Formats: sequence, structure tokens, C-alpha cells
Amino acid sequence: MRPTLRIEDPRLSLPTFVWLVNISGLRHSVNMLDTNPTSPGHVLAVLRAEGPLTRQELQERVGVSRVTMVERLDALRRTGLVRRVGHRESSGGRRAELLAVDDTGHTALVADIGQSHATLAVVDLRGNVFARQDLRLSTRHGPHETLPMLVDEARSLLSQSGRAESLCAVGLSVPGQIDHDAGVTTAPPTMREWGGVRLRDPFADAFGVPVLLENDANALALADYYAMGRPKATVVGVKVGTGIGAGLVIEGRPHRGETGSAGEIGHMRIEGSNQRCSCGRRGCVAAEASGQALVRTLREHGVRSVDDVVRWVAGGRREAIEAVSAAGRLVGTVLATVVSIVNPRYLRLGGAVGVLPPFVEALRATVEANAHASALRKLDIAASQLGDRGAFVGLAGLVADEMLSPTTVDALCRRL
Ligand SMILES: [Zn+2]
Repeated sequence: MRPTLRIEDPRLSLPTFVWLVNISGLRHSVNMLDTNPTSPGHVLAVLRAEGPLTRQELQERVGVSRVTMVERLDALRRTGLVRRVGHRESSGGRRAELLAVDDTGHTALVADIGQSHATLAVVDLRGNVFARQDLRLSTRHGPHETLPMLVDEARSLLSQSGRAESLCAVGLSVPGQIDHDAGVTTAPPTMREWGGVRLRDPFADAFGVPVLLENDANALALADYYAMGRPKATVVGVKVGTGIGAGLVIEGRPHRGETGSAGEIGHMRIEGSNQRCSCGRRGCVAAEASGQALVRTLREHGVRSVDDVVRWVAGGRREAIEAVSAAGRLVGTVLATVVSIVNPRYLRLGGAVGVLPPFVEALRATVEANAHASALRKLDIAASQLGDRGAFVGLAGLVADEMLSPTTVDALCRRL
């Protein structure tokens, strides 16, 4: 992020300008101005959490006079973030206008970057997809070849979508840990050359908007959390693709831990295994149950890739179904411990292997047999219903949380 340079750039749209102020080093000074719990930004937050609502309902919830609420709504209408969505019949026969947050006018460019695939999409802040492109990445190429290519592809996708004018942020999900302050990745062992990469910079330079980063399993957990309508519940998302990772959403926020490694379950040790793992140690769950491990297990039968594993299971090949079930049992053993410690309401499974029915069933049976009984009482285990849109929905929601936060909205209102 280079705040001074960009903030003075006259080509920036106003929302971008304000958002850069918010996300850059000036954030703390902006926050100091934003302590009024009845500000336009807070009104929008109430509308986002509880809307659609009438003006009077908003007045009662925020606790302000009619005059103040009219002022707040005027300020919000100028931002384009509130719209009329119909009427509510009132007892006196008068029809009161219903208001809701309009999160469809702003655009985010999102990318889910994996070891062998990347998917780019142009979305609104609800996760509606306007354009997408799937790319196969060469494992021979490191980030220095791959990132400029992704930026070029993203630029042309954005231009084809016709929504470039309303771009407000880029969101990227990657396996492994992220240093959120520095925008640097700590690569998983299977993508060693991606360690220490300044992932944010090429996208920030190309698009001139803030770039948010998230671990892919956190993005999956967030996606299911948003898709379920932001329940007041803890969500654990587990992604089993080439590697294995988990993400936690607690009270609506990703729980990243002190060093960004919360949920890194792939390298937990399993009793009795001596299999060498890509991390250099032996006996990790990823060495036995990841997509990469399944390819190794099934290689003698002709399997060459995780895509082959998926095709073989869909085709009913017995050896593939047995190997995938065994993987589900191993990951389930680890997750039984996670469930006992975290006591989540929802456990959602994603990734190419994670959504395969034999994997889900074996995992569910193992968790139910091994986790603490009271931690199981409300637990809902299922494959994510979002398919390969999951990362987009999660990243769009992250962008929305930042873009529609009271601080950002109040800063925007002060500029209009
Ligand atoms: Zn390992």
C-alpha cells in the first residue's frame, strides 16, 4: 500500500479514496473521529444487520429523533449504499417505505489461488459473479511468473465485465499463512517458492485499490458463514484439496491466531503413521489424507492428479472410494479434537476432496464417534453447498465488511 501516492491520484473514485484513507496508515486518526454510535455508518450497520426496516424502525433501534434520522438517511443516500425495497403496511393504513443496504453497486475482483489452479472472478459485495475465469497453473512456474500473468488476466476479465468503474477492492485467497500487516505469505510446504511473497503489491499497483488477503480455508469458513445469513454461531471450515487446512469464524470474524496459523490442522501428527510429509516431518495428517497423498496412494492404479481422484470416485472405482473414505476417517480423528475444543455449531467441508460423499460420510462418522458428546449436541456437519464459488463468496463478504464498516461509511459521508 502506498497511501500518499494514491490518495492524491485524481483518477480515484471517491469511495476508493476514502477507503484508502481508512485502510492505510491514517486509519487510527479516522477511527478517533468515529465514536458516535448514531452516525450514518452505524445506521447503515443496523440496517445491514436487521434490514429491511422503515425509517421509524431505524429511529427506534438507533435511538435518535426523526429529524436526526432524516439527516442520517440523506447522507447515506448520497453514498448510494441505501435503497428502497418496498413498503410495510402500518396500522393507520399508511404505507411506510422499507429501506435496505444496497451492496450490489460496488465491485470486487477476487482470486482463489491454489497450487495448480487459480480462479478469478468479478463480483459484487454479495458475491454475485459477473465474470469468471479458471486458469491452470504450471507447477514449474513460481510466483514471479504466475503473479504478473494473474494480474493481466484479472485486468482483461474486469474490462470484459463492464464493472471496472465501480471496482473498490481486490480479495485474494491462498493456502498457507498470511502476515496481514505486511501482506506477505508464508507458503504451505507444497508451495515452498510462494513463501515470503509480497502478494498484495502487484495487485495494488495494477488496480490502485486496497487488496485484502485471506487464507483459503478461512475464506471457505467465511463463505458458509455469509451464505447462511451470518448466524450468531461458530463455523469451522475444512478444506481438503491438494493440501489440508481449516478456518474458524467466531462471532462473525475469522480467527487467525497470533501468527496467522490458527486452523493449520494438516500438519498435526497422527498416531502410528510414519509417512514422510512435504513439510519435512513424518506422520502428519496431510501426508496420509490430503489430495496429494491420495494421488500417491492411488498412483499404482493409474491416478495422476487430484482431478483423477475426483473422477474415479464419481465413476464408482472401489480403490478410490476406499482411499477417500480412509482419508475422511483420518481428518475426522483430528476434527473430533477440534470440535471438542472449539464446540462449533457448523462444520463445513470444502475443496475437491473435502466435498466427495465418501469423504464426508467417513469424516462425520468418525467425529460423531470421537468428539465429546455435549460438543456434538448442536453440531451440523455438511459439505459446503457453495461449490467452487465458495472462495468468491467469502472474499466478497470480507470486502463488504471492510467497505460497509461504520468507519469507512462515516469517512465517505464526510467527503460527500
Ligand atoms: Zn507435515
